[in-house]
Amino acid sequence: MATTHASTAAALAAEHRAARIDLAAAYRWFARLNMHESVANHLSVAVSTDGTKFLINPRGRHFARMSAGDLLLLDANDPATLDRPDAPDPTAWHLHARLHARIPAARCVMHLHPKYATALACLQDPTMYPIDMNTMRFFGRVAVDDGFSGMALSDGEGDRAAGLMSGGKSVLLMANHGVLVIGATVAAAFDEMYYFERAAETLLTCYAAGKPLRIVSGELAALTERQWRDYGRLAIDHLDNIKAILDAQEPAYRR
Ligand SMILES: [Zn+2]
Repeated sequence: MATTHASTAAALAAEHRAARIDLAAAYRWFARLNMHESVANHLSVAVSTDGTKFLINPRGRHFARMSAGDLLLLDANDPATLDRPDAPDPTAWHLHARLHARIPAARCVMHLHPKYATALACLQDPTMYPIDMNTMRFFGRVAVDDGFSGMALSDGEGDRAAGLMSGGKSVLLMANHGVLVIGATVAAAFDEMYYFERAAETLLTCYAAGKPLRIVSGELAALTERQWRDYGRLAIDHLDNIKAILDAQEPAYRR
């Protein structure tokens, strides 16, 4: 019995460790891509089956300095979290705790204000029109939150976000604010965020050209979106390669 308990605990610790390393790699890579903003924004990953226990960045640490051991382990059901001496950023808490508590399938939640996705979120029409493979990836996957009401300093913000993410949506484009993605793994959410920013860059570059868009049919966009879903291995390979680069160039992210 004791051996079973010990091996279960060891397995959980190993899983936890892997989640920390994956998330630290995502932080460092978003910093390299200039998708971070000052010491703000937040990424989290659930480490309990029901999603209520999760890892997230400590307040005020730059993404480029984030390491696996820095990540805070929080409990979405602990009302005293913001009273901790190492309390997370309140906006991070209100958004991520509610999303993890309400959507257990959202194992990883990433919130950024990257240049192009944020610019798209500031347009009167923020639709991600299907004009290339990357934009087609998001056909039917994007919810728009047009209820910006200042900084997210209450659980209402997280509850509203969770409500909008139902029905298989993986991206929440937050009007006048930024973007949030959810995924089944760190690799999946990281890849989704990466491609959403790429897609927004292409769309906004087309807008800047001032020429009419070549928008494809809904049928073709839906087909391409399904094909992306069958390409799940790409997300795993993407993060594996990033970890390999970081292992060679800045292995401290694993500490
Ligand atoms: Zn934000």
